[in-house]
Amino acid sequence: MNKRPAIFMDRDGTINEMVYDETHGLLDSPRHPEQVALVPGAAAFIRQARAAGWLVVVVTNQPGVAKGTLTLPELEAVNRRIAELLDAEGAQWDDLRCCTHHPSGRAGVTSPLIRECDCRKPRPGLLLEAAATLDIDLARSWMIGDGLVDIQAGRRAGCRTVLLANLKIAEIERFHRMEDAMPDAVCRNYAEAAAQLWGAAARGQKEGQTP
Ligand SMILES: [Mg+2]
Ligand SMILES: [Zn+2]
Repeated sequence: MNKRPAIFMDRDGTINEMVYDETHGLLDSPRHPEQVALVPGAAAFIRQARAAGWLVVVVTNQPGVAKGTLTLPELEAVNRRIAELLDAEGAQWDDLRCCTHHPSGRAGVTSPLIRECDCRKPRPGLLLEAAATLDIDLARSWMIGDGLVDIQAGRRAGCRTVLLANLKIAEIERFHRMEDAMPDAVCRNYAEAAAQLWGAAARGQKEGQTP
């Protein structure tokens, strides 16, 4: 059987918007379904990617479960809401994988999930597990995300990478000086990412590869 290429996607800040947490003054992951809003263009991107023959696999760090700030049912409810909103725009993922570990946890909290693991990005475990299960060709796959750890995980898994970010030039240069975190492309939005990936696919097809 032929291995298939995948687009691995980060979740928070990539598929769904981050949420402003007033208590801590930080941007954080949504903890409740009603906080979920999709990043513009995410659904169309996923729909087009699958139509073009890519598997779409969401890979997300959710350390709140280990830290005791997010329950598994809450995580699942947020995931379901994201899936619903995508589905309403005709987009579905093939797989979603969460790392619920954290290496140090939080003061006063004990959990078997507080430990080093192979799946917390920047480690590539989530991508490698999905690749083994779904028979994914990592060398023809992409990882797309809004964070440094997404780029690092994608590179370590042997994928090409897109940093989805509206960064100032100086910040992009900061990424580019970090050898293990240099993305293949920096895209400000999904329209640019689609041009990059479908463009790459079109060039690949001319060389006899699909997609
Ligand atoms: Mg993110
Ligand atoms: Zn993990």
